[in-house]
Amino acid sequence: MRFLVIAYLLTGCQKKGAVEMETEIESEIELSEESTSAITQDMSETEVDGSVYGLGEDRFETNTSEAISVEESILDVEDCFYYTALTEEIKERITGKSYPDTEESLQISYEDLAYVHVLHYDFQAQVQEGELICNQSIAQDLVDIFHELYESQYPIEKIRLIDEYDADDEASMADNNTSCFNYRTVPGRTKLSNHSYGCAIDINPLYNPYVRTSDGKELISPDNAVPYADRSADFPYKIDKNDLCYRIFTEHGFRWGGAWNSSKDYQHFEKVS
Ligand SMILES: [Zn+2]
Repeated sequence: MRFLVIAYLLTGCQKKGAVEMETEIESEIELSEESTSAITQDMSETEVDGSVYGLGEDRFETNTSEAISVEESILDVEDCFYYTALTEEIKERITGKSYPDTEESLQISYEDLAYVHVLHYDFQAQVQEGELICNQSIAQDLVDIFHELYESQYPIEKIRLIDEYDADDEASMADNNTSCFNYRTVPGRTKLSNHSYGCAIDINPLYNPYVRTSDGKELISPDNAVPYADRSADFPYKIDKNDLCYRIFTEHGFRWGGAWNSSKDYQHFEKVS
């Protein structure tokens, strides 16, 4: 079992390895007159100051050609929590979906956004990869928060880009998908949501619906979340003020939609500077 998890993690974090490999090749060309040890030293500085940002300042070199030890597998887990600027491939994945393909000027640019890679425990207590797009300003917060949630084995069913649902928020919520950036308005209004700036995130949204009143009628999003709108009921994956997710996000300066007065958005955390 342990080795299955290790093999999975190595596969799951290949994207970061690829980024590091490219950086290494460029550095070696630029620093061809330097000694090998100087190159290695420069590499560690490049990683910290460059396009890949992880949990801490100590970076680890991974030698994939050798047998995998348990100790190395622990380092690999740490390497799976990181953020980068959007690559061309990621821009292609989101453009025309969560990121509008339009000539009109947007309130956000690709450069304002970051790609975040994490691991999480699903509802079967299996380790899964998670991907998020968020504002650069909260990227390090999300890396740290999801690492803390992972260490506590906090259950999150899935963390996929909303682009896998064609940026359809209702479909993503109904599938209980955790997501962040989506250039859209607040439901029922013309105002842009904080998700448009990548400053808001929705966690386990099926079990933590958005509940509001319109024309005297209670509206619950997603549609299939009606059983979970009654917050006095007892059910799993419920975010409340005793919940670990609530505690960690608020410690990082996020506000919780479940504490709003005019509506209740139990899935929603946002940090707007
Ligand atoms: Zn939200």
